[in-house]
Parts: sequence; C-alpha cells; structure tokens
Amino acid sequence: MKTIKIKTMFGFVVEIPFDGENYYCLVCGRVWRQDSPWDLDGGMTCEYCPVCGVQYGVSDMPSEKTGQTHADRIDEIRIAWLDRTGWMDSDVERVEKILGLDADQLRAMQSRVKKGDGRSGH
Ligand SMILES: [Zn+2]
Repeated sequence: MKTIKIKTMFGFVVEIPFDGENYYCLVCGRVWRQDSPWDLDGGMTCEYCPVCGVQYGVSDMPSEKTGQTHADRIDEIRIAWLDRTGWMDSDVERVEKILGLDADQLRAMQSRVKKGDGRSGH
C-alpha cells in the first residue's frame, strides 16, 4: 500500500495509507472513505474510526514529554485496540493486508509497548 505524507499543523508528519482512491486507518486498516483521517493541509479532522476508536487529531497525538513519534503513538493505539478486541483473525489479516504488518511484527510491537518502551525507532 502506498502512503501519503502530511505535515500536520503541529509540526509532526503523518503517513496515511492511500491506494489512489481511498484512505485507510493507520491503526486498523479500515477503509476511510475518500477523505483523509488528517486534512491534507495538516489540520485535524477529529474524526473517529468506528473500528478501532482512534480519534484523529486527538487520541493519536504523540507524547511531547517522551519525544514519541506519531508512528509510535499509532503502534500503541493499535496494540491497545487488539488487546481490547481479542486479536481477531479478521483484524490481524486486515492489518497485514493494508498496513503490511504481519502477526509476528504485531506481537513484537505488543511486547515493546507492554514494556513501556513504545519507541521503535520510526
Ligand atoms: Zn481504525
């Protein structure tokens, strides 16, 4: 899946899966209609994803205190969502297909997040 990069009004960059027609949720891979979860000019939409519950521009804000990147924050939200919903096969398969993260990568991400070391070097 290709991505587009958007420089947000807060200065950090978000990378959003985009197949030329539709945008996808960075957390869970759900199709995001034809609007981007972040405005293309970098503004926040405050839109919720009905699948994983992320609210773009609100709950995906990286922690300034720890120097977290946006991608690291997304990883945290993704693991919290999978833990909450029980790692359903359909979810794990969609994440692999759309976001290119297989089950092994997700499990590695889970142990990183659980250790309180969400930083992956993104
Ligand atoms: Zn989502």
